[in-house]
Amino acid sequence: MEQLTVTLVDLPRADGSRKHVDIDAPAPANLGAELIGVPEGTSMHVVADLVAVEGGVYVTGTVEATVEGQCSRCLREIREDVVREISDLAYYPAHREKLIAQGDDDAEDHAVISGEELDLEPIIRDAVVLGLPFRPLCRPDCAGLCPVCGERLDDLPADHHHDVTPLQSDILDQLEAQLREDTDE
Ligand SMILES: [Zn+2]
Ligand SMILES: [Zn+2]
Repeated sequence: MEQLTVTLVDLPRADGSRKHVDIDAPAPANLGAELIGVPEGTSMHVVADLVAVEGGVYVTGTVEATVEGQCSRCLREIREDVVREISDLAYYPAHREKLIAQGDDDAEDHAVISGEELDLEPIIRDAVVLGLPFRPLCRPDCAGLCPVCGERLDDLPADHHHDVTPLQSDILDQLEAQLREDTDE
């Protein structure tokens, strides 16, 4: 597989110069949130256009990746192919410094071009991680787990119910035992 770092040697700095990239690269570590993310090392497909703009490069395109995780309600495994839009501006360091000095706080959030290389990782990270749900679900109306037996309600018949909860029946057993002791005395 290729790398997420793209050389800019063949992208003239003149405004409007273009370069097209189409790469398959392994996902970096920690590309995700707590319950869902792109497993490290799995293949991501990145297609992007790099356009030279004043002081930097404008990157637009898409990233395709497979996210894996767990449903926050029923703990079922989730595996889904996602396509995310990329749209971001990367600056040459000197231009970024200039913008920050001018009070442009947003400039700090943009990727930085290092020498003649642009690392697409932070751009892809923004596109993928920000789109992930905080509480992933296997399906929008996942019913979750039965609070009594812990089975998935989606796997159980619609009329699934428990007449007595295990906890209640334990208490009943104890009461019964106690009553028997009381009567024996
Ligand atoms: Zn679920
Ligand atoms: Zn149950």
